[in-house]
Amino acid sequence: MKVWTEIAAGRLAGNFAALSSMISDSAPAGPEPMALLAVIKANAYGHGIDPCAGILAKAGAEWLGVTDAHEGARVRAVLSASGSGEGIASTSQKRAMGQPEVLVMSGTVGLPGEAECIAKNGLTAVIWELSHVQRLAEAAGDGRPLRVHVEVDTGMSRQGVAPGPALETMLRAIAEEPRVVLDGVFTHFAATQVAGSEQTAAQQASFEAAIEQVAGSGLKPRWVHVGNSSYLDNGTPGDSRQRSSLAWVRAAAARLGARPMVRSGLALYGYVLPIEGPGLSLAGAHVLPVMTWKTRVIGVREVQPGAQVGYDGAFLAERPMRLALLPIGYADGLRREFSSTNAKAGGWVVIRGERALIVGRVSMNLTTVDVSGIADVGEGDEVTILGDGVSAEDHARVVRTIAYEILCGVRVGE
Ligand SMILES: *Cc1c(COP(=O)(O)O)cnc(C)c1O
Repeated sequence: MKVWTEIAAGRLAGNFAALSSMISDSAPAGPEPMALLAVIKANAYGHGIDPCAGILAKAGAEWLGVTDAHEGARVRAVLSASGSGEGIASTSQKRAMGQPEVLVMSGTVGLPGEAECIAKNGLTAVIWELSHVQRLAEAAGDGRPLRVHVEVDTGMSRQGVAPGPALETMLRAIAEEPRVVLDGVFTHFAATQVAGSEQTAAQQASFEAAIEQVAGSGLKPRWVHVGNSSYLDNGTPGDSRQRSSLAWVRAAAARLGARPMVRSGLALYGYVLPIEGPGLSLAGAHVLPVMTWKTRVIGVREVQPGAQVGYDGAFLAERPMRLALLPIGYADGLRREFSSTNAKAGGWVVIRGERALIVGRVSMNLTTVDVSGIADVGEGDEVTILGDGVSAEDHARVVRTIAYEILCGVRVGE
């Protein structure tokens, strides 16, 4: 293999456990324990959905979140094949003996084949349009009724039904359709990385209104959920802001006699966004990066001053240099913004524990790095593209994007 990733199963399970205990420590004990929905959409943020689904199910995840029905079907197949749950004893592991519930998070129900795939694989659909109720009812047919989570749009103008008349109509349609069961109500916040955000407060108020409407409808959802990694990490442990964000979910769920849940993706994979705002600089979750992305040196050469390196001669050797060639490029997801010129630094990789700077353009399948200062580099040596010494945040800073996009962009050949 010329390019591959290594997934630290122990770290992924450990991050799940750390976040789970953080939410139980930070909210006052209530009758219903709070759950953590493990988001594994988009191929588990580039980590590979097959191993991640298995690891998180074994770690005790009650819910997994996927992008669409076909990703959900894949998760069902992987978990059935691994027969998760044999010969294990602890409480959380017993829970894994039954498969976790799977939420199809991007509301793709309206696309051809999706509703049928949801029905066939026992997935839970996210819905917000009346037409979604109809599509699912048809897909359910004479079989088991299908469970849905209604997303409420509290201010992102993306997915979701607005509180008020639209939600009223939606709830009535569900109440009148025996083949569709309201299993959950949720919303998504736009700015949870901001401490004490007014936008979040306004969204919370809007969601509270929606919860009152659900309470008045007579429907009894089992789950109420919100948030993402930053929401549950908005403050250090014991910080009143964090306590209040989690206590707020608990209160919203209690109003409906439902179980509270928070969703997390990025933090499961070991990254947290810095919380923006006075007095809060560092997030409280202790999580460790899960992915290492690697390749190998395929050649080493000496060049003399004046030698051009790569396309456009964008980099010119100014001294004798030793260059290592790597069989990875932007076709693999190594961003072209990592390129450097003499005037402008680019990205770096790690070889033998040391930084090797990228020189010249990153090309489609090849990248050149400077190993002049690293002893004994030779063909076949392992190279860390992302991992110890170079994080997804480092990549994101150079590329001017967010760690999410870097992780999702990692591609490894089969
Ligand atoms: C992706 C997603 C999440 C997870 O967000 P992170 O910031 O990765 O924790 C949570 N909720 C919804 C609705 C999402 O789409």
